[in-house]
Amino acid sequence: MPLKDLSAGAPATRNVDAVVVGAGMGGLYMLYRLREMGFSVQVIESGDDVGGTWYWNRYPGARCDIESMYYSFSFSRELQQEWNWTERYAAQPEILRYIQHVAERFNLRPHIQFETRVTSATFDEEQLGWQVKTDHGETYQARFCIMATGSLSAANLPAIEGIETFKGDFYHTAQWPRDGVDLTGKRIGIIGTGSSGVQAIPLLARQASHLYVFQRTPNYCIPARNAPLQPDYIARIKSQYEDIGRRARASASGVAYVGPAESPLKLPVEERQAMYKRHWAVGGSVYSATFPNLLISREENDEATAFIRAQIKATVKDPEVAARLSPKHYLGTKRNCLGTDYYETYNRENVTLVDVKQTPISRLTNTAVVCGDQQYELDCLVLATGFDAMTGSLLRIDIRGRGGVALKDKWADGPKNYLGLMVAGFPNLFIMTGPGTPASLTNFVLAIEHHAEWISDCVHDLDRQGAALIEAREEDEARWISHVNDVADMTLFPTANSWYLGANIPGKPRVFMPYVGGFANYVARCAEAASNGYHGFKLTPCKRPVEA
Ligand code: NAP
Repeated sequence: MPLKDLSAGAPATRNVDAVVVGAGMGGLYMLYRLREMGFSVQVIESGDDVGGTWYWNRYPGARCDIESMYYSFSFSRELQQEWNWTERYAAQPEILRYIQHVAERFNLRPHIQFETRVTSATFDEEQLGWQVKTDHGETYQARFCIMATGSLSAANLPAIEGIETFKGDFYHTAQWPRDGVDLTGKRIGIIGTGSSGVQAIPLLARQASHLYVFQRTPNYCIPARNAPLQPDYIARIKSQYEDIGRRARASASGVAYVGPAESPLKLPVEERQAMYKRHWAVGGSVYSATFPNLLISREENDEATAFIRAQIKATVKDPEVAARLSPKHYLGTKRNCLGTDYYETYNRENVTLVDVKQTPISRLTNTAVVCGDQQYELDCLVLATGFDAMTGSLLRIDIRGRGGVALKDKWADGPKNYLGLMVAGFPNLFIMTGPGTPASLTNFVLAIEHHAEWISDCVHDLDRQGAALIEAREEDEARWISHVNDVADMTLFPTANSWYLGANIPGKPRVFMPYVGGFANYVARCAEAASNGYHGFKLTPCKRPVEA
């Protein structure tokens, strides 16, 4: 039976069945599932509202790269039918409104403590649960601790000499001021050309007196071809939601759209070039889905990238700038960017592309970015420098398992877990959509739903079986991590310096973190483990260890 909240009138330590860290889409659905099962849940969130990623990333142009009709919860038919998206790719304010609507519709806010950061989570061997402490000095005693902290939440502030001395306006895309900023007529610099930079650059260029783009690695930007959604399209998708959900869950990518099954290389040259043009004109993920073996076949990938480089050359008037914007890595090995007018923006008189691979940023002064002997005077500097992805938001919390072992020590050589869900030695601690899962390569909403459902069913099963604890077994954890690495090594992914590999953070172990074995395959493995008495996990009834 779920424990009852014993905390009434006791402000120092509060007892709940589960603490969930984070009130993004993952934390909210986790809360909803557990609460519906009768568990007491406390969600702790550092922001002053729900939304997670979509609360923090308010930079100009922030927009989803999964089509909005699919970037929606499927757990409630009523929610699906009542919500109307307005654009093919929803912008951040609309997605935030959607998440706020979910929180209100299911009355989730009363269970969330805002503006509070979890500082530590310590496994309590006596109480068989977790002591979770916050920066407000509270302690929660919880049987389960669920990390819904997000894979892309810990902003990366690069260690550039003099960064603290810069006196102009200074923003990170993932910590953008809530009320926006007016940068009209300013000399703006932006560091970073990943998804955030690619989305922000065209809009910043329209405001700036001059925009300097400091680019270390060029990225592929596929045109989003964003457009308003028409009522008949919305109605059609709504009538097919069940089937779309089924197809998405049965797919490798977690998205219902599937491109051609045959390699385009089998087609005559003219025919396939015509197909690339058609798919490029549709934009979004349709272009990369043209290539079924994109991440395992160098030939297919070369063909995909040659076409994009030709588009860049045809769009950007200055051939030198076009060459500098042309990526060299395999398409998809760094997350593809979707953009609007990205390459066109470099034709503007007020935009300068600065190649900081060739001449790195040496320092910041109080008014400028310095690269070699060139000094770029700025009123405003925007960091679009990404995240300490997948592990950053977890390791910023002092998480300690059995025997006081710190997660950061256990993960010193890279993250270790079983099915991405649990870590050996950290009983009753669940991680949502983190390393060892396919979440960051798929549609996050689908991945979130799967994790929340698996975890809540597991918690419920433990109760039914009279088990106090569940944790990953060391040997299954080792087997899983070696499988995660083996499948990654069969692909082109490890050839690029991506955040998937931790390569964007100096000193971070270079380990491929997402599971590239496909969403459907992953879901099947998780289901199989659960239906085989939680195979790969160890269950503990009361205080006497019992094998699963
Ligand atoms: P990112 O992809 O990691 O890009 C960071 C950029 O900053 C890269 O160009 C990187 O260069 C550059 N950089 C970092 N440190 C630097 C330094 N010291 N000097 C010069 N350049 C530096 O980060 P992001 O653009 O925020 O995107 C992260 C992920 O968030 C995306 O891959 C995507 O999954 C998600 N996202 C999605 C959307 C969307 O749905 N449309 C939008 C934004 C973000 P290097 O490449 O050389 O490291």
